[in-house]
Amino acid sequence: LKSPYHGGHLEVIVGPMFSGKSEELIRRVGRAVIARQQVAVFKPAIDDRYHATHVSSHTGRVTPAQAVPGTAQARRLIFGQGDLLDAGSHVLPDVVGFDEAQFFDDGLVPLALELADLGVRVILAGLDLDFRGEPFGVMPELLSRAESVEKLTAICVICGAPATRTQRLIGGQPARRSDPVVMVGAAESYEARCRVHHELNG
Ligand code: ADP
Repeated sequence: LKSPYHGGHLEVIVGPMFSGKSEELIRRVGRAVIARQQVAVFKPAIDDRYHATHVSSHTGRVTPAQAVPGTAQARRLIFGQGDLLDAGSHVLPDVVGFDEAQFFDDGLVPLALELADLGVRVILAGLDLDFRGEPFGVMPELLSRAESVEKLTAICVICGAPATRTQRLIGGQPARRSDPVVMVGAAESYEARCRVHHELNG
């Protein structure tokens, strides 16, 4: 038996940074591999190139993955060069994983739904909230549409309570609400914090 679901479905894993999302994705994918299922894992490429890479957790566990510039490229790798017309001759993976799902474009929702409808187990791991504590990109819609949602917590570095937020620090100071979500080249760092200790500068 593959899973408690009959056929395809969406599983979403969310939480702040350091909550173990990648670890959990790697754990689920690893079990599928042991069961000799076909698995494909994707993550967003920082530049516009495809390349073979891996998903790694902060503890150092890894699983092979493909870096893709967007969901169009992930779709092409999953379905073969053609589109659904070729799907008959192209064997779909049993399991498709997406790490850092919050950085994918809007095409991730229809792709995930299409895969689930075709019988694929789709596992999506990502940040539910950005550094301001606002819903992040495509995650709210994925959370609504998923059969299964796991919200993980980290440990607040200030008080030790369960951390649900990602604190962004720029030069050691809380980032401003108006800072862009993705900052290139900034001296930034991130910490896991609870609601009480999550701070924004202005
Ligand atoms: P995520 O993908 O959610 O960022 P990872 O799976 O990469 O998380 O890493 C989780 C690991 O991060 C934990 O198992 C732990 O070893 C480490 N870690 C570092 N800082 C913290 C923290 N403040 N709370 C919990 N775990 C932390």
